[in-house]
Amino acid sequence: MNFDLSEEHKMLKDMAYKFAVNEISPISYDCDKEEKYTPEIRKKAAEQGLVGAWVTEEYGGAGVGFLGNAIITEELSRVDMGIGLNVVAACFGCEAIYYFGTEEQKKKYIPPVCSGEWVAAGAFTEPNAGTDVAGYKTRAVKDGKDYVVNGNKMFITNGTVCNFMVAQCITKPEEKKHNSFSQIIIPADAKGVIRNKLHGKMGIRASDTAEITFEDVRVPQENIVGKDGRGFHQLMHFFDVTRVMVSGQAVGLSQACLDTAVKYAKERTAFGLPIGSYQLTMAKLTEMAIKLESLRTLVYKAAWLVDAGKPDYHLAAMCKFLGGQTAVFCANAAVEIHGGYGYMDEYAVQKWYRDAKILELYEGTKEAEIMTIGRVLQSK
Ligand SMILES: Cc1cc2nc3c(=O)[nH]c(=O)nc-3n(C[C@H](O)[C@H](O)[C@H](O)COP(=O)(O)OP(=O)(O)OC[C@H]3O[C@@H](n4cnc5c(N)ncnc54)[C@H](O)[C@@H]3O)c2cc1C
Repeated sequence: MNFDLSEEHKMLKDMAYKFAVNEISPISYDCDKEEKYTPEIRKKAAEQGLVGAWVTEEYGGAGVGFLGNAIITEELSRVDMGIGLNVVAACFGCEAIYYFGTEEQKKKYIPPVCSGEWVAAGAFTEPNAGTDVAGYKTRAVKDGKDYVVNGNKMFITNGTVCNFMVAQCITKPEEKKHNSFSQIIIPADAKGVIRNKLHGKMGIRASDTAEITFEDVRVPQENIVGKDGRGFHQLMHFFDVTRVMVSGQAVGLSQACLDTAVKYAKERTAFGLPIGSYQLTMAKLTEMAIKLESLRTLVYKAAWLVDAGKPDYHLAAMCKFLGGQTAVFCANAAVEIHGGYGYMDEYAVQKWYRDAKILELYEGTKEAEIMTIGRVLQSK
């Protein structure tokens, strides 16, 4: 067993972090304040192979696998998790096409995303069903050579900036719930697609989040991704890889919190001594470091398993759970160590505190991860 990153991964880590510091850091504060999406950063990142980096070269990606992608996500998230998301989630939804789509779909949709020209979205959640992924109501009905899609999607990342989305729709209502769904590619400019940007997010405010309505949207039947009726099962596989990516965000944010808190603890004095010399501060820093180290090891392992062709949804759920918990813990501790200053928007820790919470909500709430892990534990 070798825990060292390869030279290629080390270079990637270094390059992604430099990119984040040089390109993202200067605009981070304003984008957060103004809820500003960052297409120019996505394009620059794509030039460096950071968009859809997990995609094989054949389809326009850098071919660095999911471990490489987790490392990129981590490094961008050390600087700004929202803008980082605009880069790494520009291809969100392409995972479904890559794993289940036809050759034609892969060649049509994935390369323009990796080149930074297009943006994808994964439209699953609905206003009345998020965790209950078998409770979605959006319908796609066959009509001639088309599907006609009607329904509503909620909280869709890249919703108003995407060129296409992979949407979860019921195509076989006569079947049992789990066999009634299909995934369908819907061009964002199709007639009847109505998109509204959601404002007022607590964190990751530079990322675009939207509600989407489909009103008699007509798409060719060839836009189905994978098998008719297998959408639910495909979505479960989708989470194997996307939860690893989201956990990479948690590693990066937690690292940023730890680094900043250590620096502050060495500089700030109270009662004549640096606050880092007091054991209560040390306990916070130590717990942050232990949780972070455990998380990074788990995330890298889960990513490595995907690259080795052995994706493990149980481990992906564990990373996602630990990721949310670690990020929220580290952000909270970082704010506390900064005292009153940590509460002011001049200090990045308050932003990280707001950003961290989403890691316990999207891509499966922490309760959803518990359900997944708990079921696996009892299935043997
Ligand atoms: C910023 C942002 C970006 C997002 N991006 C996307 C995206 O790109 N694509 C997409 O499809 N979705 C996206 N989402 C949606 C996100 O995945 C859902 O919000 C999330 O899955 C939770 O669903 P919900 O909001 O409907 O909450 P609900 O499912 O209504 O859950 C509410 C609460 O009840 C709990 N709960 C539910 N069922 C159970 C149970 N059986 N046992 C115990 N507790 C339970 C939940 O854990 C949660 O605490 C995004 C959300 C946000 C906020």
